[in-house]
Amino acid sequence: MSVHQSYRLRAPSTGREVIIEAEPDRPYVDRETGEQLEIVGALLPLAPSPSDLPWAVENLRFCNWCDQHCQKDLNDCPRCGRRMAALGG
Ligand SMILES: [Zn+2]
Repeated sequence: MSVHQSYRLRAPSTGREVIIEAEPDRPYVDRETGEQLEIVGALLPLAPSPSDLPWAVENLRFCNWCDQHCQKDLNDCPRCGRRMAALGG
């Protein structure tokens, strides 16, 4: 189980972005400029999630029961809760 949520943070002066597992009420500082990073957005899947894979086409498959997208590293469908068929090789 992933308990930390990943966020995109941006340094205001340089526009440089980093992705870290952050707690939103904690300040994070850019290593190069020393300025406080602003949160740009949260990454999917939102914590807590049984999958560590980002929600992207190359990481998704269709559940053979309910035909919904789910991450490839899961055995059980997060939508219908049923055990999915093994991925074909
Ligand atoms: Zn399903």
